[in-house]
Order: sequence, then C-alpha cells, then structure tokens
Amino acid sequence: MFKDRPRLFRNRDVLSPLYVPERLQGRDEQIEELSLYLSYLLDGSTPPHLLIVGPPGSGKTVCVKHVLRELKEHVDIPVSYTIADGTSYQLMTSLAINLEFEIPLKGLGFSDVWNVFKERTQDGTIIVLDEMDKMFKKDGSKLLYYLSRQEKICVIGISNKLTVMDMVNDLRVLSSFRPRKISFSPYDAFQLEAILKCRSEEAFFPGVLDDGVVPLCAALAARRNGDARYALDLLSFSADVCIRDRRENVTEADVMVAKDEVEIEFIRRSIERLSESQKILLYSIFTAEYNSPTEVYKHYNKIAKDLGVTPLTQRRLSDLLKELELLGLVEIERKGRGRGRGVGWALFPPSTIDREFIMKALMRSIGR
Ligand code: ADP
Ligand code: MG
Repeated sequence: MFKDRPRLFRNRDVLSPLYVPERLQGRDEQIEELSLYLSYLLDGSTPPHLLIVGPPGSGKTVCVKHVLRELKEHVDIPVSYTIADGTSYQLMTSLAINLEFEIPLKGLGFSDVWNVFKERTQDGTIIVLDEMDKMFKKDGSKLLYYLSRQEKICVIGISNKLTVMDMVNDLRVLSSFRPRKISFSPYDAFQLEAILKCRSEEAFFPGVLDDGVVPLCAALAARRNGDARYALDLLSFSADVCIRDRRENVTEADVMVAKDEVEIEFIRRSIERLSESQKILLYSIFTAEYNSPTEVYKHYNKIAKDLGVTPLTQRRLSDLLKELELLGLVEIERKGRGRGRGVGWALFPPSTIDREFIMKALMRSIGR
C-alpha cells in the first residue's frame, strides 16, 4: 500500500496554515508599511507600537511573520510571538519562555515575572500579541499596560476586530498603547487565485491540478469573505478526496466534494469567534421568524432569561445584528417602508450557507 500510493504532493506542508511562504501576493502595501516602521530598529530606535486589523484569513499573521523573518536578516532583535489567549500572567510567562528567560514556573506572582522580563528586555524586544481581542476578555489589558510602558519594547497587536481597542476601558492603557494601525482588507477572487497558484506550484507536482481547480477554489473562498485559509483548506481537502479515490489528478468535482467538509469547518470557526450573546442571538434568529427588530429583541431576551444570561438593550442588539450581517452569518432585507404597507424588514440565513450546518455548529457551541 505504501509503495503504489498516488503521488500528488511535492510538499503538502506548504498548504499548512503554519507555513510562511517566501513570497506573499496582494499585500505589498501592508508589508511595506510594516517594514518601514520596523526599519527604525536599524538606526537603533524603537518602532511605534502597531495594530494590525482585518478579517479572518486576510493574511495578518503570515505577513507579520514574514516581515519579522526578513527583519532578522538585518538586525539582531529578540522577538516573542504568542497567540494572546490567556491571562496576563499566563501570557507574560509564555512570552518569557519564548525568549528563553529562566523563570521558576511555580510560586511567582505577576510582578516577580515582570521584574525578570523588564530587566531582560531592556535592550529592545518585539512582542507580537496575535488574536489580541482574546486577552481583553480576560485581564489582558494589564499585560499591555506594563509592556507599553517599557521604553524599548515594541508591541505588535493583531486582531480580527476593527474595534478591538474599544474592548479596553482602562484609560491608563489607552494612553500608553497608542498604536499605528495597519488595515488588511478581504482578498478578492483574483488575489486568492494568485495566492493559490503560487502555493500550489510548491505543494503539488506539475499537472496534478486540473486547470479549473485553482480558479474554482478562489471563487468559492471569495464568497466566504475572501478568507485565504478557506481557499487553502479547499485546495488541500480536494487533493485528499482525490487521493482517497486513488487518482492522481484533482478535478473540479473533487473541489465540490471537499467543499462540504471545509464549509463545516469554516462555520465552526466563525461561530467560535462569536460572543456568547451573538451565539444566542444567532440561535434565536434561526429558530423563529421575525418581521421586525423588536420581535428579535423580545425573543432574544426571553431565551437569555431562560439561559440565565444578562438581557440586552435594543440598541446593543441591533449592533450585534449588524456584526452578524458583516460576518455573513445572516442576511437582512430592508425594504423601503411603503406608507402603511406594513412589513419592510426580514431576516434570513445567508442563501449561500446551509442552514443545517450553522445550526449544528451552533448547538455544539452553546451546548443545547
Ligand atoms: P489571518 O491571520 O488574517 O487570519 P493568516 O495570515 O493566518 O490570516 O492567513 C491564512 C492562510 O492564508 C495562511 O495559511 C496563510 O499562509 C495564507 N495566506 C494569507 N495571505 C497570503 C498571501 N498574501 N500569500 C500567500 N499566502 C497567504
Ligand atoms: Mg491570524
């Protein structure tokens, strides 16, 4: 079995989300801006703090990693990267471990670890806090407060949420962490196609992919908020489908088979990113019909009460609803309200997503 296996991949790891390619497509502007700020280091200055924002799969993480790798060729600066999902204490410890600082793992408080950290980073250090919104759900602004007050530390925050800094209400943090913002927009189908083309040349042997495969993956991912992760998943799943059938040539039909699996994974990820109230809101949307925001509001608060969750104001609810719409998880139809003609408002599951997939992922996530 191992001997006459189908051989499609030159290197499958190239399709992994962890792989940082040599060349990136469609992000020249952002890469240049990032590099310009970081180039201050070459003259011995500390760059300003940076905040990278943009939707999921828009290349934020990969661009930052790519630029930092280039930077290493020019200047010897310690870099510590972490996904910022944890408390201040946990994150500070893992940042310290990445930098190979020796700290006893038990019996130290935040300020003990901070004292070591402060001393060891005084010659300059870059700290990357990826998915930064997660730390603000815990006590993470404390960590940011300490880091941003240290003279030679440059913090690069990354987040899917444009309004991530609104999650911080400690004024001391807001006055010491005043980052330059770099925005990433969703990829369009052409950019996705260029990304896939380049990655597939490294990943597959020549001629393995039918001509229509890459454009199809790109077009489908463009419909999913231009998420490059979705596009790459689609491509690697399609190849797996083909291998499973012991063929050596990936077709558009394989992509369509792969799509369902990738779709479920995409929806799962989208839902995991929602707040508790948004999950409940989405659940209430998909379990009843509504003709006005007020009806949604009433039903939501009834469910929230049953679940023992704090009720929301109508204003807050309408913000959450707009966000779900932006994420492509609901569609809202707003007809001009004809005089006295009643119904001018309706909510739908998005026409391109299977309602069943959303419900399944949602039930799992809120444990109903
Ligand atoms: P984000 O951090 O914005 O959610 P990532 O940086 O993780 O997105 O990108 C998602 C996937 O798409 C990763 O596998 C990444 O390598 C790939 N990718 C994103 N943008 C590009 C690009 N411009 N060129 C090549 N690959 C890319
Ligand atoms: Mg990321």
